[in-house]
Amino acid sequence: MRKIRIGIVGYGNLGRGVEAAISQNPDMELVGVFTRREPSSIHIHTEGVTVFHVNEAVNFKGEIDVMILCGGSATDLPEQVPYFAQWFHTIDSFDTHAKIPEFFDVVDQAAQENGRVSIISVGWDPGLFSLNRLLGESVLPAGSTYTFWGDGLSQGHSDAVRRINGVKHAVQYTLPVKEAVERVRNGENPELSTREKHARECWVVLEDGADQTAIETEIKEMPNYFAEYDTTVHFISEEELKQQHAGMPHGGFVIRSGESGDGDKQILEFSLKLESNPMFTSSVLVAYARAAYKLAGMGVKGAKTVFDIPFGLLSPKSPAELRKELL
Ligand code: NDP
Repeated sequence: MRKIRIGIVGYGNLGRGVEAAISQNPDMELVGVFTRREPSSIHIHTEGVTVFHVNEAVNFKGEIDVMILCGGSATDLPEQVPYFAQWFHTIDSFDTHAKIPEFFDVVDQAAQENGRVSIISVGWDPGLFSLNRLLGESVLPAGSTYTFWGDGLSQGHSDAVRRINGVKHAVQYTLPVKEAVERVRNGENPELSTREKHARECWVVLEDGADQTAIETEIKEMPNYFAEYDTTVHFISEEELKQQHAGMPHGGFVIRSGESGDGDKQILEFSLKLESNPMFTSSVLVAYARAAYKLAGMGVKGAKTVFDIPFGLLSPKSPAELRKELL
């Protein structure tokens, strides 16, 4: 059987992670990396693979099965996913939760019209955490679902801060409020506001002459990202940022706390502890690229989310192997 031919659009943290993950999946091959920057300025690790300008991607119609889109959620993906869905099956990690329904509709139209499969908002949240929220709610209909993130660096939020005019570099950490976690694990089923569950902490390097007060206000009031949280903003030097905030750890847990029919307390918990958020997210994207390819082979088209993908399609193993080994 021939390998699944993969292209990468955007070579940042996720782009590098997808490249590394493909090397762990022998049923896949990387055909090309596509960037908006000057291609000769990008150095990738896979021997024999070329970096092209994004405008050249259309020439790869029929030579690439699945394009994994690794741009940022704030502005890249809403533009790039519908565009690439004209020619390729696509996977993306769009993580602006409030805008997922409208993003889905736009991508669905492009994918339906062109007979492509586009699995949107793949990763761990949205992604594996979403699946566990759905699982908890389905098997314990009487109860409450809690999602806690951190301690960890959020790429989506860091990206959003970095796109503010006057910001040179920035990282954002999400911190779960410990008392809230304790209460949930004790089965108290507390009602917690967004603010009571997490705090956000930003470490920002400014461009010369940038207005510190205005930027702090813009961060704290940013809808969908910071407005609903207690956010602390620290301004630091570039040197300090490099020394103390270079890693990208993350993680968190989804907890469903409920009661079964006879009134017994039941707690379902899924947790992730990630040394590198982008490397893990990229591994998820690559597994879903396999599912997109298999779905397309079954004649399916249109936008999908993780909820629509049977687990077996993520694996390179056959259904018979999976029944024997993992059931
Ligand atoms: P990056 O900022 O590293 O990369 C985003 C894009 O910026 C790249 O595709 C690249 O495009 C461009 N870029 C990267 N490096 C440079 C550079 N040095 N100079 C100029 N441009 C550059 O973002 P991440 O890869 O860390 O994350 C992408 C998105 O993934 C995030 O916005 C987040 O929303 C999402 N995400 C989702 C998760 C989930 O669980 N669903 C988890 C983690 C992240 P190009 O090559 O075309 O220039």
